[in-house]
Amino acid sequence: METYKLYIGGKMVDAEAAKIYPTINPYNGETIAMIPQGSAGDAHLAIAAARAAFDKGPWPRMSGAERSEWIAKVANRIKERQKDLARLESMDSGGTIAKTGADAFLAQRQMAFFAEQAKKYNGEAKEIEGLQRAGRAFNYTIREPIGVCAQIIPWNFPLLMAVWKLGPALATGNCLILKPATDTPVSALELAKIFHEVGFPEGVVNVITGPGSVMGKAMTESPLVDKVAFTGSTEVGREIMHKAAGTLKKVTLECGGKSPNIVLHDANWDIAVDGSLFASFYHQGQVCESGTRLLLPRDQHDKFVAEMVAKLDELKLGDPLDPETKVGPVISERQMRAVLDYVEIGKKEGAKLACGGYRVTDGALGKGYFIKPAIFTDVTNRMRIAQEEIFGPVLAVLKYGSEDEAVDIANDSIFGLGGGVWSQDVDRAKRIAQRMRTGTVWINEWHILSERAPFGGYKQSGIGREFGDDGINEYTELKTLYVDDAKTRDNKPWYDMLVPRAKASS
Ligand code: NAD
Repeated sequence: METYKLYIGGKMVDAEAAKIYPTINPYNGETIAMIPQGSAGDAHLAIAAARAAFDKGPWPRMSGAERSEWIAKVANRIKERQKDLARLESMDSGGTIAKTGADAFLAQRQMAFFAEQAKKYNGEAKEIEGLQRAGRAFNYTIREPIGVCAQIIPWNFPLLMAVWKLGPALATGNCLILKPATDTPVSALELAKIFHEVGFPEGVVNVITGPGSVMGKAMTESPLVDKVAFTGSTEVGREIMHKAAGTLKKVTLECGGKSPNIVLHDANWDIAVDGSLFASFYHQGQVCESGTRLLLPRDQHDKFVAEMVAKLDELKLGDPLDPETKVGPVISERQMRAVLDYVEIGKKEGAKLACGGYRVTDGALGKGYFIKPAIFTDVTNRMRIAQEEIFGPVLAVLKYGSEDEAVDIANDSIFGLGGGVWSQDVDRAKRIAQRMRTGTVWINEWHILSERAPFGGYKQSGIGREFGDDGINEYTELKTLYVDDAKTRDNKPWYDMLVPRAKASS
């Protein structure tokens, strides 16, 4: 069994206090590896290493083309290790091998995309045409790295979340400290090994593990850190924003969701039923933009739900490494208890359980944290199960009468991450999508994301965007330069407001 190390200042090191903790396979409760339990001291060492690399090292001073080559080396290595990374991720996170295989494929593709973006963002100068021109003077803008970035990620897509953080920060010349979730540290530590192997310039990437509150506090409060990029719950997002305020750090937050999924009367049921199952139960519902509030036309409700229940019942629960498995365990015993508590809350609130909602302990599943996916009907939007993020396999189904009512229910939430509309009339679906207050809306689709298009939340689902040009801009400062190569004072009559011109000598 592997005992991992922290990656600080280009070296693989033990945690300062030499403590380690086991990371557990949620399928069978077995320890899969030992992880360094970092402390605030380790976080400060990593921050100092990143600071030195940014202030004095080659990384921010390289051309974008050179940075691109380094990032491409990492992308290539991820590609070579795709299968092995997927397997480790399944064991660490409980994600089915189909899901983690797709994640590993996307991880290398997205890292390669960020390598391309690195070329684009080097020394780019956009002249502001026609503006501010006075004689030979003009101005233009350039984008520069922000500096040292603290990056904190959750346990649901550990490998991909790491790539989404590392890629844009590196492409734009930043140096960083990445902290994965305590429950799923393996893929980030494997990425650290890849950076080490390819000989990445020291201190540019630092990977530390340990308790979120301790490491997170050091990372968000340190005056040596310029930006915090966080993905995780809205609750912790609020805390991070509060702590970062002390030093006015740049903050981007990718937080929770309770995404509304509106099925219109004319939806194609062939895809809407399966698509709504995919929207709500993919990765056991542990996806930030999962379609967890399903809005059905009142007169189609019963039949639609019956079709979903029948199909859901056929999905195989099992070992995430078995390619036949469709539903794996949830991440931890703690998460399983939290999800089952919500099932009880839903029942008490008066919602009706159409299926699932209990722990499955048959045979080998008894060692893991399995929940039979649950569908609640008779839900009203004021219930906690319709308003709070459960982050597990629990779907709340609501009925609506008119299109306006559907939009009102959809928008009645503190969250605004994702949403969806199913209809054969795409123009009508687009009109509804525009009325939804969410950062992403899928029409006849769900969960598909492109690295070329921005992703992020409205309202309390977040601040800022990842992916696309908007995503990469979040890692840059924008500098405006005013330049004048005039050789004579005559071109600057406005100086006369303060400084009289020198008298011409006779
Ligand atoms: P979490 O907020 O509990 O933890 C996220 C990360 O923050 C972990 O690394 C954790 O160790 C760290 N952390 C915990 N307390 C901290 C503190 N006080 N200061 C700094 N860091 C701290 O979230 P989770 O349970 O790991 O993940 C699930 C959540 O993530 C859900 O709410 C989900 O919606 C959200 N999520 C959002 C997106 C998105 O793109 N919007 C993507 C994936 C997950």
